[in-house]
Amino acid sequence: MCYAIPGKVEIIEQKIVTVDYYGEKRKAINELDKLKVGDYVFAQGGYVIQIVPEAEAKSILEMWKELFWQLQETDVRLSSPGSETSSDRKLSKMLDKAMESRELDKEELLYLLHLQDEEGLSLLCKSGNFLRQKHLGNSCCVHGIIEFSNYCAQNCLYCGIAAGNSKVHRYRMSDEEIVGTAIQAIEAYGFKALVLQSGEDPEYPAPRIASIIREIKKSAAALIMVSPGEVGVEGLKELYEAGARGLLMRFETSNPALYEKIRPGNKLETRLSQLRAAYEMGYLVLTGSLIGIPGQMEEDILSDIMLAKSLHAEMFSFGPFIPHPDTPLGKHPLDSSRKILKTLAVSRIVDPENAKILVTTAFETLDKEAREKGLSAGANSVMLNITPYQYKKEYAIYPNRAHVEESIPDQIEKTLSLLKSLGRAPTDLGVNRDF
Ligand code: SAH
Repeated sequence: MCYAIPGKVEIIEQKIVTVDYYGEKRKAINELDKLKVGDYVFAQGGYVIQIVPEAEAKSILEMWKELFWQLQETDVRLSSPGSETSSDRKLSKMLDKAMESRELDKEELLYLLHLQDEEGLSLLCKSGNFLRQKHLGNSCCVHGIIEFSNYCAQNCLYCGIAAGNSKVHRYRMSDEEIVGTAIQAIEAYGFKALVLQSGEDPEYPAPRIASIIREIKKSAAALIMVSPGEVGVEGLKELYEAGARGLLMRFETSNPALYEKIRPGNKLETRLSQLRAAYEMGYLVLTGSLIGIPGQMEEDILSDIMLAKSLHAEMFSFGPFIPHPDTPLGKHPLDSSRKILKTLAVSRIVDPENAKILVTTAFETLDKEAREKGLSAGANSVMLNITPYQYKKEYAIYPNRAHVEESIPDQIEKTLSLLKSLGRAPTDLGVNRDF
């Protein structure tokens, strides 16, 4: 199983290295002392995570070589916008402009978010897919997520594991279980990037999570990202020092009044200040919002996309709100998947060159074909849930979560076969940006 293609280090300039993948060059940050020019490495999210022994690297490269080009060919074919045009001249003009990488203004982006007809939506998605291919190629990162506790001190109106929901069966994984699950995911299943997520659980203060990260990093190499909610700037520093390099924390909505309504007792600015601090510290920021919460307008969705971009999001995580019956918003009707598809495609138009755009499990819960649809609308990232089965089903932020009943090998197999059919490589080559 392989979720990364090794690259060869060509240049080392202090902490920045240039890595070659079959002729494609990417830059990455290196924190490994022993690295030399000529070494083979795995990189994730723009970080070198591991030196790969030459023989192993060469055999993986040999195995991938042909497939790598075949996949690229398939991807180029499937993402070509074709000759289809719209009877809506205004829409055609906007999409042409987007595909030429010219910036659309707010009014144009809102027009796209308001699209209702199938033909328009399909063209929008095709444009998103075209831009993804043009700027980022066929890489699709496949991360794993471990949900280590469903206790939460917060009372968010939308969330099934909110403190006030007494119907939830609560669990906490022990430190050994978390470390063991992570190491198994890395060593047995080949994951190169993992997210450690939980409710805001005071039983896991930053020093405890830091020690878990250190234990994982002692015996396995992976990009570790955290998602325990707000831990404060000091907490973030502690986790960074322990080796965390990504923070997954959605701002949930960019509308401050709506935020205070759905997250009683909390302020949007507190969350944003921690996301900004995390970026300054060197974290990869993974953030986004809930799409379809009551009271949210298309203008809010556009602000959400713009906010994610202004926070330097490495990954945009926009997922549909799915009402949970045991929450105050439980009676809100379920949205269609169109809104989220439009959000993904417009996100790609807004950040064509850098963003990893995630197809969330919530979207897959809403629509069985979400992965294929999302990946064909500009998205290029998926996350597999690798929480042990007995816990996974209790992390019920919303009901009937997709994939809960699937084993990890099953999830991997299905993901790889879908990616292959779409011409995507389950790997994260990183982007070609300046550091
Ligand atoms: N404690 C962490 C993780 C929270 S759970 C934090 O505060 O960031 C992870 C995500 O689940 C949340 O950010 C929220 O956007 C999402 N979520 C919660 N309830 C949901 C629902 N009913 N439908 C869809 N997504 C939901």
